[in-house]
Amino acid sequence: MRLVLLGGPGAGKGTQAKALAKHWKIVHISTGDLFRYHRDHGTELGLLANRYMAQGQLVPDEVTEKMVEDRISQSDVASQGGFVLDGFPRTVPQGEALSAILASKHQHLDAVLYIFVPEEVLEERLVGRRVCPQCQANYHVSLNPPKIADTCDVCGATLIQREDDQPLTVRTRFKVYQEQTSPLIAFYEKRGLLRTVDGNQTPDQVTRALVSAVGTVADD
Ligand code: ADP
Ligand code: ADP
Ligand code: ZN
Repeated sequence: MRLVLLGGPGAGKGTQAKALAKHWKIVHISTGDLFRYHRDHGTELGLLANRYMAQGQLVPDEVTEKMVEDRISQSDVASQGGFVLDGFPRTVPQGEALSAILASKHQHLDAVLYIFVPEEVLEERLVGRRVCPQCQANYHVSLNPPKIADTCDVCGATLIQREDDQPLTVRTRFKVYQEQTSPLIAFYEKRGLLRTVDGNQTPDQVTRALVSAVGTVADD
């Protein structure tokens, strides 16, 4: 199973990618998490990426595509039989690069799942988002709070707010999404891969809708 999750910042891609990875026992690949891992470990790639991330801008395509190609080529992806991509592609050139990467492996995507959420809901989700710096679990101060305030349910680490979830940067990210990422909706629609799901429901409801949307692909 090879899936792509599409949706605005805060649409629930990370939350749903984790659920789908568990459901199908496939690998969750988040380019945001990969960049943050590099940034936190002070690698050259991480330092470069952070110049863009902190501003809410996209990391250049070439750098991002190379990182994804390396990750998709790792052995766990082959042994688990697939992946769910979260946060990639984010531009039409990245979408073309992904097709080329997969074609070179004689592979293709099974579906592109577009999680639609209105922008005012996205904003509320982003400014209330808290993340675990240790295990990458996601929370929301009111919509999805941890059992103990500011503490990760999974690993006990103290939760943090992402630098790019500040209101000003959030505004930039919406603009970047509209201009650079939303054209991918038509790109995948044209290829017959797009399945749109209402993301403005509880996380469990969204997961069920995504699973059934993929089910309709297998029957096509
Ligand atoms: P993305 O990866 O698309 O940016 P996340 O999965 O990180 O989105 O979710 C953004 C925020 O919204 C997080 O705080 C998360 O806990 C919360 N969230 C995710 N899905 C839902 C949902 N269906 N309803 C309410 N809040 C949600
Ligand atoms: P969100 O889940 O809120 O949409 P991500 O965690 O996916 O945010 O991404 C955080 C930041 O990492 C982005 O704002 C961007 O700077 C960088 N990034 C992540 N994925 C990509 C990508 N495919 N291309 C370019 N930059 C990316
Ligand atoms: Zn944790």
